[in-house]
Amino acid sequence: MTDAGKIAIVTGAARGIGREICRELLDAGMTVVGVDINDALFAEAVKALGSPQTLEFRKLDVTDSAAFEALVDDVVAKYGRIDVLVNNAGITRDGLLMRMSDEDWELVLKVNLFSAFYGTRAAAKYMVRQRGGSIINMSSYSGREGNRGQANYAASKAGMIGLTKTTAKELAGKAVRCNAVAPGFIETEMTAVLPQQAKDIALSLIPMKTMGQPADIAKAVRFLASDDSKYITAQVISVDGGMHT
Ligand code: NAP
Repeated sequence: MTDAGKIAIVTGAARGIGREICRELLDAGMTVVGVDINDALFAEAVKALGSPQTLEFRKLDVTDSAAFEALVDDVVAKYGRIDVLVNNAGITRDGLLMRMSDEDWELVLKVNLFSAFYGTRAAAKYMVRQRGGSIINMSSYSGREGNRGQANYAASKAGMIGLTKTTAKELAGKAVRCNAVAPGFIETEMTAVLPQQAKDIALSLIPMKTMGQPADIAKAVRFLASDDSKYITAQVISVDGGMHT
């Protein structure tokens, strides 16, 4: 099928990178169900995206496996199919390893990694039956390289790579693709809260010497969601100004 008319679910969609992913997929002609835990942002996000008929937001805590499965079932009941799943929701709870609490370790793993498994399992059962679909997982430069103060986050994002490659290998025979995008240092509220010293260190590591924009990530996701990438699966695409080589 063509990209126009595809049905997409994007998690962590109310702001930041997720919102820009919604914009790109809508622009490609897809119907987008944006999900987020923060429903206070929905009205603003819908307005920012131009209030198209092909967009709806739903509240979901992606760590709730049963609720995630119910949401996917409901989207398929309403629209008849699910073509694209973007597992984008993510959080940070940074701290040095020796001082990191069990709670911060577990929460980051649950939001960033467990959720992607829940969503992928729920969507895959329909994609396999349809003989087609594209799952895109949001990894990170930290997941490829590790990052001081981010044991939980880096482990979750490295886990996303293993999940991506395994999903791709299990589902390739059914024409269901799975890829990951690994952003570098992107200008969103997630990075806005970092101290200037941390920003300076990050900038010094970027060959292009500038932070990325949410749209830079969203355009890569649009490509992976599209049939333009129909022979690409099990890949991790870095969008990071040249940091990872
Ligand atoms: P962001 O601006 O913090 O937005 C993340 C969104 O996800 C927020 O709306 C957040 O809601 C929502 N969310 C948090 N927990 C959730 C849950 N349990 N269920 C559903 N939604 C939840 O983040 P971002 O910078 O756009 O990052 C998006 C993704 O890219 C993340 O996976 C992140 O790890 C990854 N990434 C970002 C960067 C970067 O430099 N920004 C770099 C590499 C990778 P709240 O408002 O309630 O928090």
